[in-house]
Amino acid sequence: MKQQKQQPVPLGTLIGRELRSENLNKPIVKYGQAALAKKGEDYFLIKTDCQRVPGNPSTSFSVFAIFDGHNGISAAIFAKENLLNHVLSAIPEGIGREEWLQALPRALVAGFVKTDIEFQQRGETSGTTVTFVVIDGWTVTVASVGDSRCILDTQEGIVSLLTVDHRLEENVEERERVTASGGEVARLNVFGGSQVGPLRCWPGGLCLSRSIGDTDVGEYIVPIPHVKQIKLSKAGGRLIIASDGIWDLVTSDNAAQSCRGLPADLAAKLVVKEALRSRGLKDDTTCLVVDIIPSERPVLPLMTKKKQNLLASLVFGKRYQESTKGTNKLSTVGVVEELFEEGSTVLADRLGKESHLDSNSGLLRCAICQVDQPPSESLSVNSGPFFLCESCIIKKDAMEGKKSSSRPTVTA
Ligand SMILES: [Zn+2]
Repeated sequence: MKQQKQQPVPLGTLIGRELRSENLNKPIVKYGQAALAKKGEDYFLIKTDCQRVPGNPSTSFSVFAIFDGHNGISAAIFAKENLLNHVLSAIPEGIGREEWLQALPRALVAGFVKTDIEFQQRGETSGTTVTFVVIDGWTVTVASVGDSRCILDTQEGIVSLLTVDHRLEENVEERERVTASGGEVARLNVFGGSQVGPLRCWPGGLCLSRSIGDTDVGEYIVPIPHVKQIKLSKAGGRLIIASDGIWDLVTSDNAAQSCRGLPADLAAKLVVKEALRSRGLKDDTTCLVVDIIPSERPVLPLMTKKKQNLLASLVFGKRYQESTKGTNKLSTVGVVEELFEEGSTVLADRLGKESHLDSNSGLLRCAICQVDQPPSESLSVNSGPFFLCESCIIKKDAMEGKKSSSRPTVTA
């Protein structure tokens, strides 16, 4: 029967319809994991039962992450245990799915920085890379510091890198940033004056330019993640997330090709095996394979040969500095819709434009640690885009190479 125009559909009915159609189209997520330890500093997280709205299973999403620790394991363990909660607590409550996905990149930045601040307050010296992947329906959001990569192998045979390697050796922008903030970048000097190994940051001697932890290295080694958000086509795709124990030995294309057409659990084992084939076990080696598959066709088909050699960089060649500002600019890139990409270490670029004044309580909420504070004379609401508490301002200034300030202000 034809419905009359004058009769509006009740909101509850609309939301119900939206949820049902969303769930009907929701892909299946299958995963496998394989690891071999040399130093025992790799950790990973697999959580497939997260809920955007607690208690509502139709709002479920998955999280996969790798933490490759160095100089000890405590930073990797701390990040594994706390990062997800810190990210989720930075997302406003009571918002719909689209808003939630748009808020996620900001929340990832806040969660990474908060985890770093908390870990450093413990006075321990280890550090960790983090590659943190959130899968909600067809939307994949990847946040990373360090050099544990996440690659995407689409069903169209295109392999692309979703992370940026934060290695001083390979990343000139990061070298310039570290040097400008007061760090010294050089190779290790050995007896006789010759220089060996990759470029490192001194003091500390770290090869990475971003990490969580590393209290003893200097604040220019920042925990601010590169974040990329994409929407897969309904054909789905495969993510391979792995520590540098894999990527030092296997290219992205080889990793993808070595396991195409195989189920995720077997695929993860094969990628590890492929990495060990040339030189054996030299480093901790951890691999997660995650398949995002249409629910009506729950197997990834084998690729045809001619499509396999398309290089991702041709399609995903955008450098992160030229990334889109804001979350609304949609650019369709090949078979994947690119929703968001940003790698800046300037918090003003990353934490959004809204000041966090709660209209009910009259309190200001810190955009990083989410602590509420009453506005005072020195904490004016209107003089800046977001509010930071005193300890988070000190962290921000230190990361940007400025002298730390003990005076609480609203940052610009
Ligand atoms: Zn704070």
